Amino acid sequence: MSNLPTLVIATGNAHKTAEFREMLADYAMVIDLTDPAFADLPEVIEDGDTFEANSLIKSTTISQHTGGIVLADDSGLEVDSLDGAPGVISARYSGEGATDATNREKLLRVLAEKNFSDPADRRGRFRCVLTLTQNGERIGSWSGALEGTILDRELGDGGFGYDPIFKPKGCDQSLAEVSAAEKNAMSHRGRAVQALLTDLASGQVSFD
Ligand code: IMP
Repeated sequence: MSNLPTLVIATGNAHKTAEFREMLADYAMVIDLTDPAFADLPEVIEDGDTFEANSLIKSTTISQHTGGIVLADDSGLEVDSLDGAPGVISARYSGEGATDATNREKLLRVLAEKNFSDPADRRGRFRCVLTLTQNGERIGSWSGALEGTILDRELGDGGFGYDPIFKPKGCDQSLAEVSAAEKNAMSHRGRAVQALLTDLASGQVSFD
């Protein structure tokens, strides 16, 4: 057990919440923004240019309203041959009404249109930046990345987002084909959470 009290996860993304619940199971009571207690939350305008900036915006905006300890995750996929796209707009890459499926379709189409069939042209990484705040004040940020390549078709039905078209480096399956525990052990989000837990365990991060 750590000194981490009830933690509000600043996301409405049920997949992210499930991953956090799994990874933080021993450490905190985790609630997310779909909890009825948070009916009147302000809209969070994620207009930062970086995952760091957007993670901080989410965390501070929400914690000013909920109080307590708030953990925000900003994450996404960068593809080197596309100058880092989709990057911070990963969730809305395919425009208005974007879904995980339409975002994956767009990324596969863009790479195909550029004739990027060589794995070297399909290299990229998932990134995640976590920010903890308390009453609107930043406590700290932790990041993680997972290197890999973009497949040319979808494989597997686990995970969410770009998982079915992402093959982690050194892995012969897509991120949607591995178990939830395997994904959490290697993922960008898993690595960021491990970094946070290390700081909690060492007492480098503590709460009032
Ligand atoms: P956010 O909610 O603004 O941080 O957007 C994150 C977006 O990045 C998601 O909607 C997914 O498209 C993508 N993403 C982030 N983490 C993952 C992951 O673990 N697997 C697959 N896609 C992810």
